[in-house]
Amino acid sequence: MPPGFTESYAEARRWPGGGGRVQESAVPPERWMQQIWRHQRIHRDRLHLVDGRRIRVLHPGYWNREPGPDFTEAVLQFGDDPAVRGDVEVDRTVSGWRQHRHLGNPAYERVRLRIVWSAPATNSSPPVLALEPHLDSPLDDLAFWLDTQAPALLPGSLPGLCCAPLRELAPEQIREVVRQAAEVRLRERAATFAVRAVAAGWEQALWEGMAGALGYKHNVWPMRRLAELTPLGDAAGSGPACSVEAWEARLLGIAGFLPTELPRGPGRAQVRRLWDLWWRERDTWEGVTLPAFLWRLGGIRPANHPQRRVVLAARWRAMGALTDALDAWMRRAGSASRLAADLGAILTPPAVTEDYWIHHVTFRSETRGRRLPLLGAARVAEIALNVILPWIQARAEAAHRSDAAREAVRRFFLWPAAGDNAALRLARQRLFGEGGGPPLRSGADQQGLHQILQDFCRRAGPLCGECRFPEWIRRQGWADPNLEPGVSPSQNPGLTRPNGLPSFGESTAPR
Ligand code: SF4
Repeated sequence: MPPGFTESYAEARRWPGGGGRVQESAVPPERWMQQIWRHQRIHRDRLHLVDGRRIRVLHPGYWNREPGPDFTEAVLQFGDDPAVRGDVEVDRTVSGWRQHRHLGNPAYERVRLRIVWSAPATNSSPPVLALEPHLDSPLDDLAFWLDTQAPALLPGSLPGLCCAPLRELAPEQIREVVRQAAEVRLRERAATFAVRAVAAGWEQALWEGMAGALGYKHNVWPMRRLAELTPLGDAAGSGPACSVEAWEARLLGIAGFLPTELPRGPGRAQVRRLWDLWWRERDTWEGVTLPAFLWRLGGIRPANHPQRRVVLAARWRAMGALTDALDAWMRRAGSASRLAADLGAILTPPAVTEDYWIHHVTFRSETRGRRLPLLGAARVAEIALNVILPWIQARAEAAHRSDAAREAVRRFFLWPAAGDNAALRLARQRLFGEGGGPPLRSGADQQGLHQILQDFCRRAGPLCGECRFPEWIRRQGWADPNLEPGVSPSQNPGLTRPNGLPSFGESTAPR
């Protein structure tokens, strides 16, 4: 389609009143098929796979807008077999599964069902459901709705069982639930640091936590492993071998990211420079160099490529005493946004001379005109909330410095929000349904939502099976009709006290 066009003229003709009709024999666009499945616009009570077996859709799964299968966490029952949880992939035709290289791709190994438009009767694995014979309305009647309204509508399958009791609460009370969940998250992360510090020391625990945070969700473990292999205080990290370039060569070498053949283009000189350093110590690291399969690279935006994260980690190591800089930052006063900007400056070391990484994404990429930061504000917020503030709190408590511990907690709750993401959007849809609940704008609010997802939703699954979160909400007495809407639970201790159930975070969900 030409640039600037969002749909073709032929598609516009199919709009109501247009000159064309949806062709009976045409396969509709995949995005329509996704909406049909998402909203279950099919005769759900008489579904059959193309292999003849009956299929019951207990939950269609969550629509995935990121790389990977189109729907995740569906709950399906084939014939009389026990229900299974897994992913669903939508392709217009049966051959799409091979053509799109899903077969053998680890990202698709949890696919339990393939959806196509039409297919002949056949056995296949994963099993196939054809949509066309099961539509609950003619495609002609659905076409306009599928194109315009369906993508923005929340399917009835999405809100969880807690949605109804949460709707009874005033916005202040919802914020209190989320605040308590965030506090649990902070406490748990701090406890994890305290345990690791006993074995490895406080600075090493911080180094491992920060490196892990650079792994985002897919490469946490290889990044942590890099940090474990290069402990602070190790001889390799001292003396003349601790320049930025030396650390870049070392960490990229151990990570297995230094190409063994010189690439063409602008990366050639950079690889040569780093190999000049790496070859001297390569033998030292032989046997612990990370295998390529450990890194997950599929579906990662170029700017987030792990090579760039490793480069940033190398700069942190070359900086030396990061803890001194953090201690100085804790002594500084200022608004939340000022403190966030100051921490961002600490975590973004100045560029080195002729910095290759400012204008290149990886060793093989072309030169980009605009500058590419190694760290953005959203990631700084993630690192502050998940690593630095819990670590500072844990270390201060271990040293009986209660003022410093309190200040870490205060900063945690004041911190501005990090970027939105699919997990947060899903949490808001499941907990609050259409409308998304009251505004939850701080970084701690986001942490609280993540904690509820972790404690309850991930364990209970999309059907909310045996989740006790709704019961916990009801038993707080917050839905008391005599309660003034908007009253802060913290002004009424009776409301926040657990009522027969453990308080939030002493999870009641089945493990
Ligand atoms: S699993 Fe629990 S917390 Fe999650 S949506 Fe369902 S009822 Fe709510």
